[in-house]
Amino acid sequence: MSNTGALEGGCLCGAVKYRVELPVKWCAHCHCRVCRRAHGAGFVTWFGVDRPAFHLHRGEDALRWRASSPEAERAFCSECGTPLFFRSERWPGEIHVAVGTVDEPAALLPAVNVFTDDAIPWNYALHTLPTLGGPSGIEPVSKPQS
Ligand SMILES: [Zn+2]
Ligand SMILES: [Zn+2]
Repeated sequence: MSNTGALEGGCLCGAVKYRVELPVKWCAHCHCRVCRRAHGAGFVTWFGVDRPAFHLHRGEDALRWRASSPEAERAFCSECGTPLFFRSERWPGEIHVAVGTVDEPAALLPAVNVFTDDAIPWNYALHTLPTLGGPSGIEPVSKPQS
């Protein structure tokens, strides 16, 4: 994973553009039901940074934040619908960014699976990296049967 420089990214239509200073704090595949539903995806790969490392270039007016649980909000582009960002009282001071919205996502290397209690058993990502789950979603668990 790159340790210096910055990553740029944005939504499908280009209304929302952002820049993130490296290094990121973590990068993980999230298998929770809320991520899967909100993104219409088998799992969602995220990275996290502290708020000061995150810069929204443009699209503040296009971005819509909506509650996805009592303590968390997710942001999407109101022009094209791309889900982009997540913030939660559980991780104060951090913003989480969907890796699929990064211009050069190969710069990021996911290191762990989280919330694997919810995972769809066919997810290939489960068989290649450490798996965390349990009530908090980030406790050590044994790997699922393959
Ligand atoms: Zn857009
Ligand atoms: Zn999730």
